Amino acid sequence: MFPSEVTDFFRTQKTPFYYYDMDVLNTTLNEIREHGISKGFRVHFALKANNQPKILEKIKEAGLGADCVSGGEVQRAIDSGFTPDEIAFAGVGKSDEEMELGLKHDIFCFNCESTQELEVLNELAGKYGKTARIALRLNPNVEADTHKYITTGLNENKFGINASDLDEVLAMLPALKNLKLIGIHFHIGSQIEKFTPFEELCIKANALNDHIEEKGFELSVINVGGGFGINYGHPNDNSVPDFERFFGLFEQNINLKDHQQLHFELGRSIVGQCGSLISRVLFTKYGQTKNFAIVDAGMTELIRPALYQAAHRIDVLTSSRAEEKYDVVGPICESSDTFRTDISIPKVERGDLVAIRSAGAYGEVMRSAYNLREANPTVYSDEIG
Ligand SMILES: *Cc1c(COP(=O)(O)O)cnc(C)c1O
Repeated sequence: MFPSEVTDFFRTQKTPFYYYDMDVLNTTLNEIREHGISKGFRVHFALKANNQPKILEKIKEAGLGADCVSGGEVQRAIDSGFTPDEIAFAGVGKSDEEMELGLKHDIFCFNCESTQELEVLNELAGKYGKTARIALRLNPNVEADTHKYITTGLNENKFGINASDLDEVLAMLPALKNLKLIGIHFHIGSQIEKFTPFEELCIKANALNDHIEEKGFELSVINVGGGFGINYGHPNDNSVPDFERFFGLFEQNINLKDHQQLHFELGRSIVGQCGSLISRVLFTKYGQTKNFAIVDAGMTELIRPALYQAAHRIDVLTSSRAEEKYDVVGPICESSDTFRTDISIPKVERGDLVAIRSAGAYGEVMRSAYNLREANPTVYSDEIG
């Protein structure tokens, strides 16, 4: 992933910065085409995982659609070449302005999560003389077995319409003349590494599909969301998630009716492994109980460790000295600004470069200016040399 000419180029750059390996992204997209799109599945990329225009361009070229969770993302998708009929808009709290933007562009589908949202969208659609296509986001009450901050499909979560409210919602729909129900939508969480939660989701989705169709609605879209995890521990051996197994599971377990198409919304599994955060060691501090490697990247560039206790692999790019144990920490004035504790890596010195791996998803998009930190330019592998 980091041949010497790449590392040499890194040495000339102001750190920290994000680096994207476009070969990894291309391989990933090819796997999605081979195992998903070629089966007739529709795959939308969740822009919230990464919204770099250059990345979006590649994803669009590969034939994926866009899954947006804000007006800003809808606009970014359009600016990046996605046509409105490839854009879905999800989110538990859409503002009037954001819904109006979607209506103005006649986007493919609004994924709706509450009765009040349906009423407001209906009213706004009427005001603009539009019919809004909608999918109901249903909460299947499935345990995703992931970190509690990224599980979304349990009754206690804020997301989706609970099964107990479904019939009431269906009963409202005929009166909401400016809405057209086209599908159902699920998203049970993120960084899901086991396959059983997805199997459980299929069982629940099949039952809900039958139930709604029996009530006389025709659903053309069965959207099972995203959430497929990546291997943070071994990004080199597992640079592309097992999409064959993932899409195969749904192919086997979802009962599609003739008029239905299976939709996915993947974020992390598409862009996670192509990105790294490149950082320089500023200082080392050898203490009584701990050694610290203080690097120039912090939670401002990558908040996942502080927010979800995520452990990203750290590669030292410029040292092959004997290993030492370190806490690798950032410069931000927060104790949670720690990337890893007690990891063994080659001994580092001031000026050494490290790559914090698997940072392509929920990395650069969550960058903040806390401590008035400046953002350095992003580097793409195909622009070096
Ligand atoms: C975040 C999100 C996704 C993407 O999740 P990943 O875990 O990155 O695949 C898909 N759909 C919805 C509604 C989301 O909020």
